[in-house]
Amino acid sequence: MNAAARRADPARVGYVSTRAAGAAPVSFEEALLAGPAKDGGLYVPTELPGPPPRWLEAESLADLARLVLPPFVGEEGAAAVAAGLDFDVPVTRPGGSYLLELFHGPTAAFKDVGARSLARLMRLALSRRGERATILVATSGDTGGAVADAFAGLEGLQVALLYPRLGVSSVQEEQLTARRPHVRAFAVDGRFDDCLRLARGAFTDPALAGLGLTSANSINVGRLLPQALYHLLGMSLMWRELGAGTPLRVVVPSGNLGNLTAGLLARELVGGTAAADVSFVAAHNVNDFFPRFLAGEAGAEERPPSVATLSNAMDVGAPSNFERLRWRFGPRLPELVRGVSVSDEATLRRMRLTYEEHGYLACPHTAVGLEADARLPAGEGRATLVLATAHPAKFPDTVLRATGVSVEAPPSLKAFGALPKRSEPLTATHEALAAALLAEPEFSA
Ligand SMILES: *Cc1c(COP(=O)(O)O)cnc(C)c1O
Repeated sequence: MNAAARRADPARVGYVSTRAAGAAPVSFEEALLAGPAKDGGLYVPTELPGPPPRWLEAESLADLARLVLPPFVGEEGAAAVAAGLDFDVPVTRPGGSYLLELFHGPTAAFKDVGARSLARLMRLALSRRGERATILVATSGDTGGAVADAFAGLEGLQVALLYPRLGVSSVQEEQLTARRPHVRAFAVDGRFDDCLRLARGAFTDPALAGLGLTSANSINVGRLLPQALYHLLGMSLMWRELGAGTPLRVVVPSGNLGNLTAGLLARELVGGTAAADVSFVAAHNVNDFFPRFLAGEAGAEERPPSVATLSNAMDVGAPSNFERLRWRFGPRLPELVRGVSVSDEATLRRMRLTYEEHGYLACPHTAVGLEADARLPAGEGRATLVLATAHPAKFPDTVLRATGVSVEAPPSLKAFGALPKRSEPLTATHEALAAALLAEPEFSA
């Protein structure tokens, strides 16, 4: 395709910031490359065109990407996303509820879906524009590994990861610090909230403008939209098994609420093509701002600090995507979503019970979902689908503690252990980060 033809492949849908009521929409490419909007809000699509009715027959994430995404990201973008989503998402049923296993990608967590999609969309947008960019990611564990894996070596890009030095599991750290071309991992002397604060500060520092900083957290709309695909796949697999339109309850292990927001968007997308009677459960660990908000016990402006737990990828005090949820659903949120908060103790017990009763090893995040499911009244006339967000082998110490089992790592995880490592210590100040980023940019050619 020549350059003119490429430019003629725009996404139909425009994007606006959650904070700019009435502002003119920007293009998908602009929203993608900006990350957060300049006013500090998050980009959201101005309309949600549903997929053609045959989406219900789709067999894979890649099929769904080609059917659902063109209006949002353009035809070429949809094809690029489809190419990256080349792994299975099976449904299993170890007990009464169904599980959608989202962890069969390269870094064994569902974050591979968003990260691999975003990497391909960004490469396409940058090469169209002849620009380059620095992906700056604050990670509580799983995002960083998935992003580094997805972006490493892509033309015109470099990656900087900020992770809490003492807040990640040994397997997560192996993935974060595996030496990769044009990826730098910074071990921040602080908590995940400090990493988020440093990233926010960097985005708004004019001295760093030359680096083309952008984000790959679930605040980037290019990650959020592709995550709706596995929710659609889950719905279609369930409806094929149980009959179209069977009422569903989807349990989402939640932290920053990207996964849940994508699920609610998926529900809106198909509202016109199937009787989408789907309700959601936001299963949180003791970082329970959102369940408290839904119960009317926390104000929308609260910004609680995060607390470290065994389900560390969900250790988010003030979830970023909350802003998107309020923008889109406002006072309807408590009708659409129920919130549950689960302690570490209950998480360990649920891991043990799931293994003893069903022979199934769940990661601590999935176990938070399973425990939330077990606490709610059984079924309520709905079939339950719990999202299984990480492979248990990513958390071998916790699995051993809960069940006494040494879990075997899948080959993709074992490969990370063998790679040379590189990590740079970083004091949790803006000055330290800015100096490190400016000292030696490492864009790939
Ligand atoms: C990130 C993550 C979550 C939470 O997803 P959010 O989109 O942040 O709510 C749950 N489980 C695992 C394994 C994760 O990596």
